[in-house]
Amino acid sequence: RGPVVTVDGPAGAGKSTVARKMAERLGFLYLDSGAMYRALALKALQHGIDLRDESQLADLLKSTTIDLIGNGQGQPSVWLDGEDVTTLLRTPEVNASVSLVAGFPLVREEMVRRQRAMAREGRVVMDGRDIGTYVLPDADLKFYLTASLEARARRRLNDLVALGFHPNLETLGEEIRHRDTLDAAREVGPLRQAEDAILIDTTDMEVDRVVDMMLEYYRQ
Ligand code: C5P
Repeated sequence: RGPVVTVDGPAGAGKSTVARKMAERLGFLYLDSGAMYRALALKALQHGIDLRDESQLADLLKSTTIDLIGNGQGQPSVWLDGEDVTTLLRTPEVNASVSLVAGFPLVREEMVRRQRAMAREGRVVMDGRDIGTYVLPDADLKFYLTASLEARARRRLNDLVALGFHPNLETLGEEIRHRDTLDAAREVGPLRQAEDAILIDTTDMEVDRVVDMMLEYYRQ
C-alpha cells in the first residue's frame, strides 16, 4: 500500500484544515473521519431517533451510506445516502449531538471498519481522534495537534460565523471542553496521543506553517 498519514487531536486544533492541505500538496486523498460521525448524527436528528439508543443508532448506520468525495482541491463534500450534506454538518445541533452518537462502541466499530477500508490502498491523510492509536495504528507518519482552549474556541467561532451563526465565545469554549471530555472518556478509541505521534501546538501558528512543518517531517 501507499503511505498513510494520521492527524489526531481535540476539537478546533486545526486538524481538518492542515490535513486537507497536506493531502493536497502530496496528491493524497483526504479523509475526514469526523464528518462520518457528523453525517450519522445528522441523519439520527432528521429521523427523530433517540440519541441515547445505541442499538437504534447502530441499525441506522447499517442502512446508511456515507461517501467522502474530494477532487483534491478545496473542501471535500460529504454525501449521506446519495445526497450532498456538506453544508449541514457543522451546525450547532450537530455539534451538540455528535460526541454522544460517536461514543457508542457499536457505532464506532462500524465506522472504524469503513475507515480502514477507505485507507486500504494508502496515499491518504486521515484526521480524527483515534486514527493513529486505533483505526490505523500502523500508519507511516502520525501527528497530534493541540492548541489552547481559547484558540480552539476562536477557530470554531470563525467557522460558525462563516455559516451565519453568532455564537458566544465563552459558550463555545464550554462546549468544546465538554466535547473533549466525552471524546477522551470513551471505551473504544478515546482521544489520545499515539506514542509515536509528533506533537504540534498550533496555538500561535499560521495554517501554512503547520502544513510546511508536517511536510518536512514527511520528507525526512
Ligand atoms: O473532527 P470533528 O470535530 O468534525 O469531529 C466531530 C466529533 O466526531 C468529535 O467531537 C468526536 O466526538 C467524533 N469523532 C470521533 N472519532 C473520530 C473523529 C470524530 O469520535 N475519529
